[in-house]
Order: sequence, then structure tokens, then C-alpha cells
Amino acid sequence: MKIYGKSVGPVVKHDAEVFENNDHLLNETERVAKLYRSQPYREHCKVCNEPINNYNMSFTKQGIEYRLCSKCGHLNGLYQDTKEFAEKIHTKTKYAEQYSEKDRQIYFQRMNDIYSPKVKFLFSAIRNDSQEPLKYKHADFGAGSGYMVAGLHARGAAAVGYEMSPAQVNYANKINNFEHVYNVGIDEIYDIAKVTDAGVVTMIGVIEHLQYPVEMMKALKENRNVKYVFLTFPMLSPSVYFEQVFPSVMLGHLALGHTHLFQESSIDFLINRSEFSRKAEWWFGTDIMDLVRSVDICVRQREGNCKAAELWQDKMNDIIDELQLVIDRHQLASQVHMLLGKDS
Ligand SMILES: [Zn+2]
Repeated sequence: MKIYGKSVGPVVKHDAEVFENNDHLLNETERVAKLYRSQPYREHCKVCNEPINNYNMSFTKQGIEYRLCSKCGHLNGLYQDTKEFAEKIHTKTKYAEQYSEKDRQIYFQRMNDIYSPKVKFLFSAIRNDSQEPLKYKHADFGAGSGYMVAGLHARGAAAVGYEMSPAQVNYANKINNFEHVYNVGIDEIYDIAKVTDAGVVTMIGVIEHLQYPVEMMKALKENRNVKYVFLTFPMLSPSVYFEQVFPSVMLGHLALGHTHLFQESSIDFLINRSEFSRKAEWWFGTDIMDLVRSVDICVRQREGNCKAAELWQDKMNDIIDELQLVIDRHQLASQVHMLLGKDS
């Protein structure tokens, strides 16, 4: 089962901050890039373990060299994602202790716009594999603020989440008025993968942040309770090139915690090493949105002329989805959602 495309409408609404706070966010990416450059050099491909010196393309962004592995096609940053690096960038300590009714409304609107469609796709994909999703327990790894767990509950599934930021765990549980998101240490998640009684494990925006993605997939394969893994992969896509040509614009594809990107060949390498197979795919990216945003911000920066930028937005807004759909259909998008299953 493969589907392509998703309207960017709701995403634009929620990402208004990116338009408004470009310079602040760009400084943040530079701070994290500096931290990443201070880590030890990577010696092997993150996916296939090939020596990093065997590469067939490289480029540099924010002082970081990225190399395309000649064996599996994975794009690797030239430094290691150490435990220290991951802890510094993923353990958010500032999280609202108090929130208003309006915050709650925004939270559940985001859940509906972004996470409910993921759950809907997941359930359709499992049913397409002749199984009933609601008969399985679900576990969301890297649960963040609990959106996916809340989205699963809203559709009647039993679901728990695991998250390394205590502040985020607290926020997720309070805003949902439940106790289903648990705090785990950065290394503990691999042990949970080995013993979870969930039949479906979800990882949204997580695999790229794991220090040991290969070990995670192996642990899930060996756990006989786990039947399906639903995850997103960030891809080497046109957005990476837009980032290269618009250095004054904050685009988050190869920045912050994203130190490496997949191609279909490296996804296959990762999943086949752990003997999963692709059951369903949903390709939709933000490449055209990133391009529109980049031009918009550059026009504002160069001309100091908001009217010209607004005209650009007006002209492009109605065709963003259609342009992106071409990229999605060719499976060149910045992200793919994938349901993996075990054949045996
Ligand atoms: Zn490789």
C-alpha cells in the first residue's frame, strides 16, 4: 500500500513561528552545529558500517561535511552523534508547567491536524495487511508532548509513550489528564524495545535521533510481541539543496538533531539487516513549502519589501500541494512514513 501527498495547510498554520523568528532559529541551528562539530569524527556509516572514507559525494553546510556512503547511499554527517550531543539537544528542560484553555485548544488542534492523519494511515495499513490494529497494544518511542499517544487513544487504541525529557513527560500527561507517557533514560529505550508487550511500536521523528538505529531495529525484530513498526524517515531530498542555496534561511532538514539522512537504499539496508519488510508507505514532504518559505524570507531580507514577498506567497499558495505531489509521487520527498512488518 502506497499513498502520496498531504495538504500543507495545517502545517503552515502551525509553523508560522518559522516565518516570524527566522533569525532567532538560524542562530539556534548554528549553536547546535558548533556543538556537533566539537564531537569526535565519525569513522563508519551510521547504517551499513562502511568506512566513512568510502563515499561518492560530499558537501558542506554550516561548517559540517556530509558524505554519501558508497555502499548503502546513506548521507552521514562527519561527526558522531554522541550520547552527550543527544542529551544536550533532546532533553528540553523548559516546558510549560501551567497552560491556559487556549494552549489546550492549540494542542488538540495540532493533534487533530498532524497526528490523527498518521494514526488513520497506520490503522488502514494494518487492516490492509489483514490484521485488526485495535487488538494490539501500541507503544510510542520518543513520545515528546504525547501527541501520538493522544491520537491513538482518540481512535480507541491502548497506547503508552516513552520520552527522555522529564519536563515533556510531565506536560504530556498533564495536558492529556492521563499517566501514559513514561520517562526513560537515553539508553533505556533499547531495553524497552527488547521487552515491550506492544504489538505496534511507533517512532515519529525518532530514528534519525537514535544513537544506535541498527540496534533498535534488531531489538524490535527479536521481541516476539512486536508485529509492526511504524516510523518516519527524513530523506535526502530537494530541501537539502534549498538549504544549500539559501544559507540565510532557517530550514530544519539538515540541522539541529538531523545529522544524517536516508535514501531508499539505506532504508532497505537498515530494515533488511533486521529482517523487516515494507508493508505500507506514505510519501509527503515539505520541499516546496521550504522553497516558498526560502524565497519569501530572502525577498524580505534583500528588499526590505514585504509587499513583494506577499505577492510571491499569493501566487504560490494555491499550487504548493500540486507541485509537492509531483515530488512525492516520485518518492523524492523530504519524508516518508513507513509501516514495517515481520514476514515470519
Ligand atoms: Zn552506508
